[in-house]
Amino acid sequence: MAELKALCMKCRDANNKPTMQTMQNPSVEEKNNRYSAKGKCAQCGGNMFKFLSKADAEALK
Ligand SMILES: [Zn+2]
Repeated sequence: MAELKALCMKCRDANNKPTMQTMQNPSVEEKNNRYSAKGKCAQCGGNMFKFLSKADAEALK
């Protein structure tokens, strides 16, 4: 499975901005022709969510 990165709202940098973290165990969902992935942050274990393009969603399946 391809590695997926998403912004984590809990893992913030020195400027208090969300940082890109690896998503663990992403599960791809399709809804109304929009694709999204849900998973957990590899760094803090918090829930993550990301919208995907169709190509990205296909690559993760
Ligand atoms: Zn995190």
